[in-house]
Amino acid sequence: MDKKKKLTTTAGRPYHEVEDSQTAGPRGPILLQDYYLHEKLAHFNRERIPERVVHAKGAGAFGTFTVTNDISRYTRAELLSKVGNQCRVFVRFSTVGGEKGSADTERDPRGFAVKFYTEEGNWDLVGNNTPVFFIKDPKKFPDFIHTQKRDPKTNLKSATMTWDYFSLNPETLHQVMILYSDRGTPDGYRHMNGYGSHTFSMINGRDERVWVKFHFKTLQGNRTLNRQQAEELKGTDPDYAQRDLVEAIADGNFPKWALKIQVMTQEQSRLFKWNPFDITKVWPHSEFPLIDVGVMELNEIPANYFADVEQAAFAPSHTIDGIGLSPDKLLQGRIFAYPDAHRYRLGANYHQIPVNRPLNPVNHYMRDGQMNVDGNGGAAPNYYPNSFDSIEADITYRESPLPLDGKPADAYDRNENDDDHFTQPGLLFRKVMTEKEQINTVGNIVDAMNGISGPKRDEIIQRQLGHFHQADPDLAILIAKGLNVKI
Ligand code: NDP
Repeated sequence: MDKKKKLTTTAGRPYHEVEDSQTAGPRGPILLQDYYLHEKLAHFNRERIPERVVHAKGAGAFGTFTVTNDISRYTRAELLSKVGNQCRVFVRFSTVGGEKGSADTERDPRGFAVKFYTEEGNWDLVGNNTPVFFIKDPKKFPDFIHTQKRDPKTNLKSATMTWDYFSLNPETLHQVMILYSDRGTPDGYRHMNGYGSHTFSMINGRDERVWVKFHFKTLQGNRTLNRQQAEELKGTDPDYAQRDLVEAIADGNFPKWALKIQVMTQEQSRLFKWNPFDITKVWPHSEFPLIDVGVMELNEIPANYFADVEQAAFAPSHTIDGIGLSPDKLLQGRIFAYPDAHRYRLGANYHQIPVNRPLNPVNHYMRDGQMNVDGNGGAAPNYYPNSFDSIEADITYRESPLPLDGKPADAYDRNENDDDHFTQPGLLFRKVMTEKEQINTVGNIVDAMNGISGPKRDEIIQRQLGHFHQADPDLAILIAKGLNVKI
């Protein structure tokens, strides 16, 4: 048997009592000097940190990423420089709209956030299980999320708010089509793809930049739940996806994903039919085929959920040399919003929490702040320039500048085809979905839109049917029939 550990106070004093408070005699009252009691109650009151406004309910696991294909012609990233290179990863899957206690099988996109602990810093690919997103400008994000949350008066989820917003923002249509297909209710986290969704860039050793999209293809196969199964599981096993991940890894059944990229040259980006930085669009595979990069395996559930999963802080700004950003507006907004959220939830030193800490040494001049626990730079100078330390800002890590299109910029300029919200959703419905998937998608949409209520019901339904009609007339007719309305 293990040698017993001594109970202590948080200050380390060996202590003799966990349950009984110090009292004046057997009947009390309790003595003010019982600091062990104060410590226990006070810490309990502070157990909760702010819930993530989005992606509150999640599951996480550690694992490895292994490079299987040489893509060094596109990137000088140290990690991707050689077949066989490997690094540790941490992945957090999540639903988006629901609170921390909500059900795992809600119809919702799924977060798919990966932290690669590389020798040259942490690379966070903070994606979803869908290749596109509802909106393309970050200024819209708070409004959009409000429509996925609760009505300000009734505190109920509201199909009216949701479809009012969708119908007034047709750029949501592509994501709506994916969300209301059965991929909107994946069978746990293991049987879904992940996508970086944004356009990123890769910069090679010659400082040449290409545009890149990242895809994680599940090697377990895509598996979805239909509406009825998802609804039933909400009641019988609300933690279905968490359980599935934990049990699979405990059984040694380690889930894997193949990481692939699509590559677009600068020249192709000028000729592409759509704005390549528009997150409501994909790049067709026929024009931009998938290129293998590596395999990710998840094989370790964190020993403590709060320490690693609840405190995990991913940010699209955490890129590594050789992988860069793009003018994608939503990406640019997330570069601000994610670290801002972490500073609020976890504090200015969120990057010092073990799950967020890079494995390589960090050298910078940022000091102090709440919960500084990494030695705070010790006796080293806390200012730059100085005559004492040997930290250098290495110019070879500088990227060539992001190309601009050279026209005088109007702050609210629009791209050609910006308002084509319909071609790709139409292709998804006609070309990609099987007949069964089409039927299920129509059924899922009808079921959801039937929840629209109030005096604006007809107006919202007609406006949304108009968008479906532009994507595919048959789709709109089938939905109208299901709703028992005329277009
Ligand atoms: P392809 O026929 O080459 O590929 C279709 C893609 O759609 C596959 O990646 C498939 O994933 C995925 N898919 C299948 N069913 C669904 C669904 N219900 N929701 C979301 N994705 C699904 O198509 P194209 O590249 O020519 O694009 C056609 C349409 O496919 C797009 O408009 C878009 O809606 C969708 N799509 C395209 C992607 C892309 O990056 N080009 C990525 C994902 C979807 P899998 O192979 O894993 O089954």
